[in-house]
Amino acid sequence: MYKTILLAYDGSPHAQKAAALAGEEARVHGAALVVVYAYDPVPEWLGEPLFEEALARRVTHAQRVVEEAKGRIGEVPGLEVEVLEGPPASAILRVAEARGADLIVMGTRGLGGVAGTLLGSQSQKVVALANAPVLLVR
Ligand code: ATP
Ligand code: MG
Repeated sequence: MYKTILLAYDGSPHAQKAAALAGEEARVHGAALVVVYAYDPVPEWLGEPLFEEALARRVTHAQRVVEEAKGRIGEVPGLEVEVLEGPPASAILRVAEARGADLIVMGTRGLGGVAGTLLGSQSQKVVALANAPVLLVR
């Protein structure tokens, strides 16, 4: 029985499937579900007011991505969201540790990547470094 499931969501088609599956697993196991989305850091050299504007755009976009994730997950009581800045794999691993996640659900591929690569770089890192089982969805 899983107690805390982490969904890593970037809005990609594989992540969309991962979201639906994470929702199902959370309902079946009566588990808590945490959605993680990481956005790129805003370069400090932008200076003001560009820095603030860029950051606001990132946050607005993050909210949209997370809302979309929620729609695909469906009803899960006590669903939580973590939006972090920085490399996605680090964010996912950090939240997984902090929350004691006992299952990580993510896509095999994401939004970037080169066609032909079998597994995205963030998925590779999480699979290699996570202490919890990782469910990769394609
Ligand atoms: P790459 O990023 O290596 O160029 P890619 O984008 O195809 O290739 P990944 O980034 O590893 O592959 O994406 C695999 C999965 O990782 C996604 O389906 C999603 O579950 C998760 N993921 C990727 N980026 C993020 C992000 N910014 N926030 C949260 N989860 C992410
Ligand atoms: Mg990616």
